[in-house]
Amino acid sequence: SLADKLQETFKKLRGKGKLTEADVSAAMREIRLALLEADVNFKVVKDFISRVKERAVGQEVMQSLTPGQQVVKIVHEELTALMGGSESKINWASQPPTVIMLVGLQGAGKTTTAAKLARLVQNQGRRPLLVAADVYRPAAIKQLQVLGEQLKVPVFSMGEGSNPVDIARAAVEHARKVGSNPVILDTAGRLHINEAMMAELAAIKEAVKPQEILLVVDAMTGQDAVQVASTFHQQLGLTGVILTKLDGDTRGGAALSVRAVTGCPIKFTGMGEKTEALETFHPDRLASRILGMGDVLSLIEKAQANLDVERAKELQRKIRQQEFTLEDFLEQMKQMKKMGPLDEIISMLPGAGKMKQLKDLQIDPKEMIHTEAIIQSMTPEERRNPAIINGSRKKRIAAGSGTRVQDVNRLLRQFDEAKKLMHLFTEGGSKKKMKGRFP
Ligand code: GDP
Ligand code: MG
Repeated sequence: SLADKLQETFKKLRGKGKLTEADVSAAMREIRLALLEADVNFKVVKDFISRVKERAVGQEVMQSLTPGQQVVKIVHEELTALMGGSESKINWASQPPTVIMLVGLQGAGKTTTAAKLARLVQNQGRRPLLVAADVYRPAAIKQLQVLGEQLKVPVFSMGEGSNPVDIARAAVEHARKVGSNPVILDTAGRLHINEAMMAELAAIKEAVKPQEILLVVDAMTGQDAVQVASTFHQQLGLTGVILTKLDGDTRGGAALSVRAVTGCPIKFTGMGEKTEALETFHPDRLASRILGMGDVLSLIEKAQANLDVERAKELQRKIRQQEFTLEDFLEQMKQMKKMGPLDEIISMLPGAGKMKQLKDLQIDPKEMIHTEAIIQSMTPEERRNPAIINGSRKKRIAAGSGTRVQDVNRLLRQFDEAKKLMHLFTEGGSKKKMKGRFP
């Protein structure tokens, strides 16, 4: 992957005490190739490399004590700048409701993303209204209604015969009356860009004057995504882009080119099919992830969004006071299951690839049952203080829970790792300090 290749290059650079211009040139060639292989736009790569090179061969870098580190830092800064520098927020209307219009080709993920956005703003304490303005596919309305029901978000629709412009207008009127905000419009896409679609979208735009027109585009389509974004932007004037299916796109080319080519900021990224899988886009974090610096901040946000806050606080207190028991561990495993696939979470940790032990933390449902049984077979004393669990106790616990001694061992190891992982969440307490730990 792109990350692997860049990390390989940087390892070579870091290993050198002094850098010559030839070293930098060689590294730049490798980075250039890696980016092109990741399907980053050719022109974007060219400009990027020349900016990095210009800075990297400067006096300050070459004469510094850690030239390799300096180059990595420059690449990180330039990658971040390429993706827009800082995160871009939703434009809220001064007079509610704010109208967010989602546009894009069929299958890009508009309907799914509409629901994800609704969930996201709902978690911020807002009362969104979802609007089914895709009237061409009857299933589309139903799809949105099902998602709305799941999230307990109202869905505004007017049936198949209606005109999308009328629907949008009526929906905004309705939202104003009942105090819904924002209004999220799920519009109709086509398989390809065509005039009928653009004309319809322009008419909706004219009718309801959205604060946000967000293009939903499939990251897996790489440079096509960038092309689609350019065209939509020219014809409609986008306020931002939502890249979906970034969970499946290992190359990351679209994420790296969209902003540079179109000038439109990426505002959110879709990281899976479920409604919680939408993330605010942070250019610096993606740059860090690409460079293998991990993504601790995203990890913490994810944890905070999905963990029961009170319960988490209680766990933190226990960890601080060394009262974290195996019973808490069981509880915590159940909580972590809610955060999504563990390997995905772990991959966000710095150096995760090397943390072999963390792999043991994989939770599969079958194993959960084992875990529960094993902990149940321990005495309260053993649960509080697993250090006392010696060989003969392990045998007794294994027999009692219908498992093997090695299962008990694995569980105890997982418990230790979980404690370490929990320290990552709790130590220092604040995000700022966390950041300092992983420069
Ligand atoms: P629309 O035609 O633009 O409304 O697209 P849909 O919302 O119906 O999504 C098309 C397909 O893409 C569905 O199967 C979604 O589950 C899937 N999908 C949408 N967003 C994501 C994402 O971020 N990751 C993954 N893996 N799948 C997604
Ligand atoms: Mg749809």
